[in-house]
Amino acid sequence: MAAACGRALLVPLGGRLRACPRAPLRSLTAAAPLYDVVVSGGGMVGSAMAAALGHDIHFHDKKIALLEAGPRKEYHLPESYSNRVSSISPGSATLLSSFGAWDHVCSLRCKPFRRMQVWDACSEAIITFEKDDLDDMGYIVENDVIMSALTKQLESVADRVEVFYGSRAVGYTWPLPSHSCDTSPWVQIELADGRRLQTKLLIGADGHNSIVRKEAEIQNIEHQYDQSAVVATLHLSEATDNTVAWQRFLPTGPIALLPLSDTASSLVWSTSHEHASELLTMDKESFVDSINTAFWSNVNHSDFTDAAGAMFRSVLSLLKPSGTAMRQLPPSVAKVEAESRAVFPLGMGHAAQYVRHRVALIGDAAHRVHPLAGQGVNLGFGDIACLAHHLSAAAFNGQDLGSLKHLLRFETERQRHNVSLIAAIDLLKRLYSTSLVPLVLLRTWGLQATNALPPVKEQIMAFASK
Ligand SMILES: Cc1cc2nc3c(=O)[nH]c(=O)nc-3n(C[C@H](O)[C@H](O)[C@H](O)COP(=O)(O)OP(=O)(O)OC[C@H]3O[C@@H](n4cnc5c(N)ncnc54)[C@H](O)[C@@H]3O)c2cc1C
Repeated sequence: MAAACGRALLVPLGGRLRACPRAPLRSLTAAAPLYDVVVSGGGMVGSAMAAALGHDIHFHDKKIALLEAGPRKEYHLPESYSNRVSSISPGSATLLSSFGAWDHVCSLRCKPFRRMQVWDACSEAIITFEKDDLDDMGYIVENDVIMSALTKQLESVADRVEVFYGSRAVGYTWPLPSHSCDTSPWVQIELADGRRLQTKLLIGADGHNSIVRKEAEIQNIEHQYDQSAVVATLHLSEATDNTVAWQRFLPTGPIALLPLSDTASSLVWSTSHEHASELLTMDKESFVDSINTAFWSNVNHSDFTDAAGAMFRSVLSLLKPSGTAMRQLPPSVAKVEAESRAVFPLGMGHAAQYVRHRVALIGDAAHRVHPLAGQGVNLGFGDIACLAHHLSAAAFNGQDLGSLKHLLRFETERQRHNVSLIAAIDLLKRLYSTSLVPLVLLRTWGLQATNALPPVKEQIMAFASK
């Protein structure tokens, strides 16, 4: 951490702000506007964070800035669906509703789903999740639609939240927890174009390569997976209700079909880097055939695991006749939308700390997960709900927003939730990336047992819907 030393002057040094000894600081930092909160990174998580604070009644007299490296994007709902979509949990929808963004999402477009079917390509093992009542399990929403709704809500609080597009933060200087009268008590931020800002609290929402995290020297446990995700917009062979999210675990990685409308679904296919490149370049007909085969073919089954799985299933149905779920057949795919195929490398990461004095990390800057559970942005929205709650209380009580006292509460609460989920997702990724018979048997029995135990499934659903 670049700590400001006694009698420091902030000067640009190699593109970063550094503390320089023996010169008065106040004259220089006086020119930089001071914000109560600066959010660095205006993706889905950073924008939602700034909008949540901007709409908070206890922040009515606070000054907030949102820095986004990219340009401002005008959004007009296109006829065809974007290939970048997210499965949004009911908890995330509640957060977005709390400051009016969810209404915009619904007025643009989103597709609720009521059932999830997950099954193994190496055995007959299957797990289904569904709501008994008429509640939605979640929603498939285009990322652009979420961003458009957030931008609209940011505009409605433009008097409190200044959004700086095309503004990349390139350097930060951190204050000492107990500053002397010569050093700045605030975080100093330098932008690529030379402008400077200072803030009482910096929130790093600048994605998995977070500069805030790196500059704060917060350790990140990270790992690149041997998989990339191929995404695409698909047209179904025939119109259906299309309210089921489908995912099949192939030995090369999970393939998911997420509903967009009665006739369209979104593909997220995690597979080896080589296979991903092939999927991207093959002709459209072969691509569609590959998807249908991935969902329908039983080429990875073995007689032994099928027999062992069937035996275990009949024992379970004797013990718990009502616990087994009905297998449904996924829809078949007819066409891929032109130009909709794209590929993303996958990795996991977790910051050892989410907070420092006057700094907090949220979203992918704090944690990155495999998309197999559709949890990445939901974890980020969960961070926002928690951090906004603690900051709102601090503002109401007239406390220092950047104080570690409430930032640590945020860290403890979120790490308690995030760490177990991140570990479970990583374990699932590893457990399902093999066709070794003992592991296939283990996961087959595990999945069948979980599927037969409604209370366990309800707990999983409750945890994932936060
Ligand atoms: C294929 C795929 C499918 C997924 N599906 C789902 C799903 O179904 N459900 C789900 O919950 N999650 C899903 N995710 C994960 C989800 O997309 C991410 O968790 C989410 O986008 C992270 O948002 P973020 O705002 O934290 O980070 P980012 O989206 O990375 O945004 C960071 C922002 O910060 C800006 N920035 C970076 N550096 C600076 C800087 N120095 N100064 C200023 N601005 C800066 C960038 O321009 C960017 O706008 C999926 C991910 C992938 C790859």
